[in-house]
Amino acid sequence: MRLVHSFAAGQWIAPGPGARAIESAITGEVIAQAGNDALDVQAMRAFARDRGTVALQAMTFHDRARMLKALALYLREHRQVLYDLSFDTGATQSDHLIDIDGGIGTMLVFASKGRREMPDSRIYIDGPPEQLSRTGQFQGQHICTPLQGVALHINAFNFPVWGMLEKLAPTLLAGMPAIIKPATATSYVTEVCVRLMLDSGLLPDGALQLIAGGTGDLLDHLDCQDVVTFTGSAQTAKQLRATPNVLNSAVRFTAEQDSLNASVLGPDAVQGTPEFDLFVTEALREMTVKAGQKCTAIRRILAPSAQVDALITALRAGLSKITVGNPRETGTDMGPLVSSNQKMDVLQKAAQIGTEAERVFGDPETFSMADDQGAFLPPMLFHCADPDAAHAVHDVEAFGPVSTVMPYNDMDHAAALLNRGKGSLVASVITRDGDVARALAMASAPFHGRLYFNNRDSMAEATGHGAPLPHMVHGGPGRAGGGEELGGVRAALHYMQRTAVQGSPDILSAITGKWTPGATEHVDKPHPFTRPFDDLTIGDTLHTPSRTVTLDDIETFANFTGDTFYAHMDHAAAAANPFFPGRVAHGYLLLSFAAGLFVQPDPGPVLANTGLDNLRFMKPVEPGDSIKVRLTVKAKTPRNDDYGEVRWHVALTNQNDEAVAEYELLTMNEY
Ligand code: NAP
Repeated sequence: MRLVHSFAAGQWIAPGPGARAIESAITGEVIAQAGNDALDVQAMRAFARDRGTVALQAMTFHDRARMLKALALYLREHRQVLYDLSFDTGATQSDHLIDIDGGIGTMLVFASKGRREMPDSRIYIDGPPEQLSRTGQFQGQHICTPLQGVALHINAFNFPVWGMLEKLAPTLLAGMPAIIKPATATSYVTEVCVRLMLDSGLLPDGALQLIAGGTGDLLDHLDCQDVVTFTGSAQTAKQLRATPNVLNSAVRFTAEQDSLNASVLGPDAVQGTPEFDLFVTEALREMTVKAGQKCTAIRRILAPSAQVDALITALRAGLSKITVGNPRETGTDMGPLVSSNQKMDVLQKAAQIGTEAERVFGDPETFSMADDQGAFLPPMLFHCADPDAAHAVHDVEAFGPVSTVMPYNDMDHAAALLNRGKGSLVASVITRDGDVARALAMASAPFHGRLYFNNRDSMAEATGHGAPLPHMVHGGPGRAGGGEELGGVRAALHYMQRTAVQGSPDILSAITGKWTPGATEHVDKPHPFTRPFDDLTIGDTLHTPSRTVTLDDIETFANFTGDTFYAHMDHAAAAANPFFPGRVAHGYLLLSFAAGLFVQPDPGPVLANTGLDNLRFMKPVEPGDSIKVRLTVKAKTPRNDDYGEVRWHVALTNQNDEAVAEYELLTMNEY
């Protein structure tokens, strides 16, 4: 018997009063116990705030991203123990790849995004500055700073590892500590994963705690600096969201809940096309992976009326080849549901669906494992001939291997049926017809958190209807909970407060650590290209002498590069163009002259120019005009042990000090 401990305020606490028994999905035997009503959840919150918040927020985004990477690699090294345990939840080895490897992979993506897309500082800058006054001496900037409380993650039973890590990674990246409350049914897997992370020694004290069992009165004591992210059923979400203190204190509450996801067989994807076969493959996978216990699984299968029979025949053929059995055995395609309770729940929901739809595959009564003590069920396929009159097929989520095929007449009808889910996590459309894709996107995107299109062109690389990716938003409106998770750096921002900061350019630069146009320039230092990364400070500026641009320069550049566009070569044609007074210099000539004006040619700390961002040409340069350059250190980002990226603000002006061009130059500079 495993005793699933909580990790509270630095101590492992064994199950106590109110502990619940946990059964093996395979045998039905009680294998573990979890829960302790005497757990001091208030001490956990204080520990997170006093230790975790302080330690994490002393680190920069890059420090935390490096920590996530190390943590993910540590988990990967030790994942076998998680595989071994997870079989008892009913998961097969290929299910482990989604839950355990998928969770670790998600953490690695956040580690990488944190280093590449967030600054090496403690404030995240959201968007460009906004000029709020005529001369630019009063500007605005949106910034994001981590909340100062704790994130309480309440997770569903189906992904004991991924479900934790996909929330934990962005939380830690943002700089918030977390208290994880896994679903009791699979908490023994989560507990071991938490132990691994704590044993790694990579996390500061208070960054991660675990509640095995109930959360006590924790929700009654949270405030505006705390976050609750809930994953589970709509029913529980409604109950928790309505906690008086959550409402009164406006505690951030995100819900990822159940969803009647659908997949549409496009009108072009008729039998005999690669799209038809692809549709069948995706539908079979979504019905059987994790025994259908996936929030994104396809519950509703929408097919053109004329294709319904062929589709049901193909799905039945595919389902008849699925081996249901002990997930530890290698020939098994689908394991049991997580528990006998879950099995009962699915049977009950399937019976409700059965009042409106005919079961065309999978009879739980005659199923060969029907008498087995484990929570085994066959995949069950239904056919609802009149989906307009039906309700249960659009409303009842049987959280298991259950899907319903239904016909549609045209694209408007397909969209209307899709939207009967009243808000879903994902819908997929298998089509090669761009018009079909656009019509469904317009009609159904507002009802879905994710739309997945696939066809013969993308199928070899597509990631699957059911896979939420760390790069893309996961969540959905309405029935799906109205929440949003993942989506790259957006995920970390859910644990931060966005604040509009207003002030002078110097004040904004001081806050953000990034030079804002109009802020003080430091001009009395040696050439910035001669100084290593660490010697450069934000605002260091070089003003160059000016250079006159001649007609000869323009012609030489045109003939050398082959860019003989008429605006540079033909006075009359150029003058007829509303943008030009006559022949003008090439924009790229100006950039080249600018580099000629600001570079310091000797070997030195500048290793390479790696790009330009936000290039704008504002005023044409005619022969006889002159240009000069202001080059300012805007931001610095360490990249590795040897060098870092310097972002320079570059402004070209003419002899009348009018802006000619502006851009950001990126260089890699040695430390
Ligand atoms: P659930 O019964 O709603 O439980 C979800 C979580 O809430 C569990 O950790 C549960 O803990 C906890 N909980 C229940 N009552 C609570 C209370 N009064 N106070 C604090 N916590 C409480 O859902 P489930 O059966 O675990 O998961 C299946 C459902 O989750 C399905 O409907 C599925 O669609 C949905 N789901 C959604 C997503 C998504 O991303 N949208 C992902 C996965 C699953 P105990 O286990 O200890 O009761």
